[in-house]
Amino acid sequence: GKGAAMVTAVAYRLTEQARQIQQTLAEFRLSKNQLLEVKKRMKVEIERGLKKDSHKDATVKMLPTFVRSTPDGTENGDFLALDLGGTNFRVLLVKIRSGKRRSVEMHNKIYAIPIEVMQGTGEELFDHIVHCISDFLDYMGMKSARLPLGFTFSFPCHQTSLDAGILVTWTKGFKATDCEGEDVVELLREAIKRKEEFELDVVAIVNDTVGTMMTCAYEEPTCEVGLIAGTGSNACYMEEMKNIEIVPGTEGRMCVNMEWGAFGDNGCLDDIRTTYDQAVDENSLNEGKQRYEKMCSGMYLGEIVRQILIDLTKRGFLFRGQISETLKTRGIFETKFLSQIESDRLALLQVRAILQQLGLDSTCDDSIIVKEVCGTVSRRAAQLCGAGMAAVVDKIRENRGLDHLDVTVGVDGTLYKLHPHFSRIFQQTVKELAPKCDVNFLLSEDGSGKGAALITAVGCRQREELKL
Ligand code: BGC
Ligand code: MG
Repeated sequence: GKGAAMVTAVAYRLTEQARQIQQTLAEFRLSKNQLLEVKKRMKVEIERGLKKDSHKDATVKMLPTFVRSTPDGTENGDFLALDLGGTNFRVLLVKIRSGKRRSVEMHNKIYAIPIEVMQGTGEELFDHIVHCISDFLDYMGMKSARLPLGFTFSFPCHQTSLDAGILVTWTKGFKATDCEGEDVVELLREAIKRKEEFELDVVAIVNDTVGTMMTCAYEEPTCEVGLIAGTGSNACYMEEMKNIEIVPGTEGRMCVNMEWGAFGDNGCLDDIRTTYDQAVDENSLNEGKQRYEKMCSGMYLGEIVRQILIDLTKRGFLFRGQISETLKTRGIFETKFLSQIESDRLALLQVRAILQQLGLDSTCDDSIIVKEVCGTVSRRAAQLCGAGMAAVVDKIRENRGLDHLDVTVGVDGTLYKLHPHFSRIFQQTVKELAPKCDVNFLLSEDGSGKGAALITAVGCRQREELKL
């Protein structure tokens, strides 16, 4: 009768809804062949970045870092380090002791960088940085020490030496004026001069990937790759000098900061980018740039999720079809929320509680869908990142003419460390896509700061050697 027909209609609507949701998410589910294709394209872009003729127009920039070796244990001294460009801004004092009782002791303080400063003028940004250094030196009682400083600056820089780096472009949440095209070491030195309170000797500018690799290599000499899966996404590795065509010399190796976040900026990933990825890009500070990063890193995953949720809500599949103010707010789903929502130990009731905290009223069905959306988006991120890494380790293996490579990757970043599934899916993907490599992953403890100090130590040593 009528009742049965209504039940059938409701059931049909539910299955039709489930089908449409699955169809939406299917775009995010990449096959092994698609991932192999991503790996192959990354390889192509790596070669374009390394070769002299194509370097200028290459999207994956493969920037030389002038770091020519990993640490050897003879590094020694007291150093100041700055870490700018991740989740926090930090100033550190790092005491490295060489010899039989090798040790690294660190003191650090975290400072906030207000959004007005990140996106104000360059002078304000660097004055703020120097203000924080000043506070730190007071706190440590070291104002008069004139320490050598290593500056971890987690943005693409064109380096011509260890202590010169021209900012190519801001990424992530930064957009301070008058910095792009400038040597950020000079900007820092000028700000220190303006303050007239203390002197420092800026020895090295360091990408966070390189700092991470160096920190891990200090403990584990097979570490020749660095990875950041955090607010942003990037990798570095030891490349053969003869392959780095824009740096003279063919002997030995140099660490290359890949800047792989820009992979896809020439359209080479367009076939796998979804309309949601495009919306995230359009809403960002740097439209058209860092397209791979926008599919892989912590700053954007929550935004992709939000775009999908908005769409599903508009289509009446979620939140009773009501788009709340919260859902319209950029950046609500930080990595820590995604990590919580996807935690296996969490009951659906708790997922609802988290959504409630964010100001989203959900039904039980809503919470199931939200959790599946989050899982699908973060799985794709881990797989894409894994495909990139597979290209890197295979490149190193081929460089050395090996059938089999054992290598260690030093890793840092909030997404990798906090997310309940990212690291596992990432590692599994690397294994599947680069079967001729045995890759060992090493978490770096405080990689950026310690690494900057180690590189600064090497820089000071090289300078002494030049004087002799
Ligand atoms: C920057 C890289 C950095 C990465 C991770 C990217 O946005 O361009 O230089 O290594 O974020 O912090
Ligand atoms: Mg960091």
